Amino acid sequence: MDDSVIETTRRELHQANRILIVSHLRPDGDAVGSLLGLGLALQEAGKTVQMVLVDGVPSSESQLPGSKQVRTKPEGEFDLTVVVDCSDLARVGEALNGYGIPDWNIDHHITNLNFARLNLVQPDAASTAEIITELLPVWGLSLSNGVVSSLLTGILTDTLGFRTSNVTPSTLRIAASLVEAGGNLFELYHHSLLQRSYQAARYWGLGLSKLQREGRMIWTTLTAADRRAAEYSGRDDADLTNVVSTVTETDVSLIFIEQNHSRVKVSWRSQPGFDVSQIALRFGGGGHKAAAGADIEGTLEEVQEKVLTATRSLWG
Ligand code: 5GP
Ligand code: MN
Repeated sequence: MDDSVIETTRRELHQANRILIVSHLRPDGDAVGSLLGLGLALQEAGKTVQMVLVDGVPSSESQLPGSKQVRTKPEGEFDLTVVVDCSDLARVGEALNGYGIPDWNIDHHITNLNFARLNLVQPDAASTAEIITELLPVWGLSLSNGVVSSLLTGILTDTLGFRTSNVTPSTLRIAASLVEAGGNLFELYHHSLLQRSYQAARYWGLGLSKLQREGRMIWTTLTAADRRAAEYSGRDDADLTNVVSTVTETDVSLIFIEQNHSRVKVSWRSQPGFDVSQIALRFGGGGHKAAAGADIEGTLEEVQEKVLTATRSLWG
């Protein structure tokens, strides 16, 4: 990262007392881990910090220290507002309504729109937690147990346990530094990547039973009725996308998750050589070459047709 950015951020952190940190809707492990990792480190340095996720902390991350402090909307005034793991401002939902342009944008998405006053965007990083782990010592902040567990969770979840194509020696070194600082890799790995609720497993079953394939593209849908039938409480895919994307006969996989009658969340996953971030961007979403998403207006049928047509263009 640019020396002048480091110097500016260090100075601004020193001067700020009340700090607001927010991340995205339907938060994943990197959103929660980055938010808590930075938030707890700043609290330990004596700052007053509010951490906000409009959708709250998902149950898979609720065991992390500090998760009970996370609010669904901010209250009061702040000297510094920080957005983590978001490529655009729509991603935070209503979290920053009335707070103007955020001060800092810390992120790793190639589609980042540089929406803040200071943009600390590193598309080479495999997770936002990885960027924050490198920045904390530069800012003179220390790695307590809570900070370490949160950041390691962010790295583990965004890399699916170090198996995504964007994992670099630097990712592994940064993760190793967190293990050296006391992070329990075994426990965090099992908790955040392997264990799932009975309801999530049943929800997967409903999605898997509808799997469809056309050439080297595979997809399925998850409806509101599926969630009710499985008694699954989230509005996400319970990470089914990471199972569907393991089917060897395919290069691109998609999941259509009905949000209500007029909105559908789409998740794309792809093998190296297929850039799905640009397709997600066309639909107002974003992400990485190999993993992207968008929240699209329309019924399940309408969105599915438009998105499958656009995705077919990857094969020319
Ligand atoms: P997922 O499919 O797991 O929700 O997300 C895959 C990647 O795409 C993540 O990096 C996530 O942040 C990004 N992403 C998912 N949904 C959206 C969206 O609606 N807008 C933007 N800008 N990015 C998204
Ligand atoms: Mn991320």
